[in-house]
Amino acid sequence: MQNHHVTKLEISLSALKHNFNYLKSKTKPNTQTLAVVKAFAYGLEPVNIAKSLEEEKVDYFGVAYADEGIKLRENGIKTPILVLHAQVANYELIIQHHLEPNIYSLYTLKQFIAFAKKNHLEAYPIHLKFNSGLNRLGFNTDEVDELLSLIENNKHIKVASAFSHIAASEDLNEKEFTEKQITTFNNIIAQLQSKLTDHFTVHMSNTSGIINYSNAHFNMVRMGIGLYGFGNDEKETAQLKNVATLKSIISQIRTVKKGDSISYNMAFTAQKDEKIAIIPIGHADGFSRPLGCGNGYVTINGQKAYTSGNVCMDMILVNVTNIDCKEGDEVIIFNNQKTVEEFAKICNTISYEILTAMAQRIKRTFID
Ligand SMILES: *Cc1c(COP(=O)(O)O)cnc(C)c1O
Repeated sequence: MQNHHVTKLEISLSALKHNFNYLKSKTKPNTQTLAVVKAFAYGLEPVNIAKSLEEEKVDYFGVAYADEGIKLRENGIKTPILVLHAQVANYELIIQHHLEPNIYSLYTLKQFIAFAKKNHLEAYPIHLKFNSGLNRLGFNTDEVDELLSLIENNKHIKVASAFSHIAASEDLNEKEFTEKQITTFNNIIAQLQSKLTDHFTVHMSNTSGIINYSNAHFNMVRMGIGLYGFGNDEKETAQLKNVATLKSIISQIRTVKKGDSISYNMAFTAQKDEKIAIIPIGHADGFSRPLGCGNGYVTINGQKAYTSGNVCMDMILVNVTNIDCKEGDEVIIFNNQKTVEEFAKICNTISYEILTAMAQRIKRTFID
């Protein structure tokens, strides 16, 4: 059913393309690119984003789960798709939709080989993930021999890539740890290359890895948050363009008297007569409760209006006492990366979570 949601997330596809090409420019000319579009493309919307990046000749997409990849296939995306957290229960769906699984343990490898054999697959592309220090998904170094014995001369599968993930690529205080991860991964790759005859791609860097560790680019890089406008520091973020603008309109304006309480649970009492605007965005939309009670703000007619009282599920109340505005006026929740970073700080989190928390009931629109 159509609903004219007035709270909108406007996505600039030209800014996205700029960011893609900026990150790509940090790598050697023949380095391949994988665009990470998991979690609804970090909250923005995956299908239009994937289509735009296909126009820029991205080499791969990365999603977390099979259904995210299926959605891209159903919308005409033809580029190879790596399922970063492929689960055994989804192998059938994965091959039906020509998705490529991350195989990250001896268990998943044995399961996939058995599955591939049963379904008479030939040279089906898989991606091997190695643990080099993050201690999340991945084969450990001491499992490489057994892994090799399982895949050598197996005609049902083909190793499309081998990869790892850096634990603290954005934090140069952890450079020593990261360099150790890179060395560990290099040793694993050497071991694989000595046994596997076919060419496979090697990749390790996320956005901050692209920026901070050119020795970890190998022959493909994985771009996530950078595509959506966030680098690992202010300087890099300044090179990236803002992709997402979240806006709404004023639903109602009311005047409250000195001593009146505002919003739920009397969290705020007016110290003087105040003008309050009610905006249709709440914690169910990702406008998190820590942004309430004067911590967060929106921008109305160029001026900051701070929240007043608690954030509700579908609404916030903001103080517009000194702002010239009326019902129906536009409200900017954020239209630059700095505000998102500020919100993240207030919420004791990172930009990633502010973006991915934006509810799907917020309408996404695309410009340029
Ligand atoms: C999410 C993810 C990325 C993208 O990381 P960013 O920091 O957003 O660039 C890259 N690789 C893997 C394995 C991931 O899970």
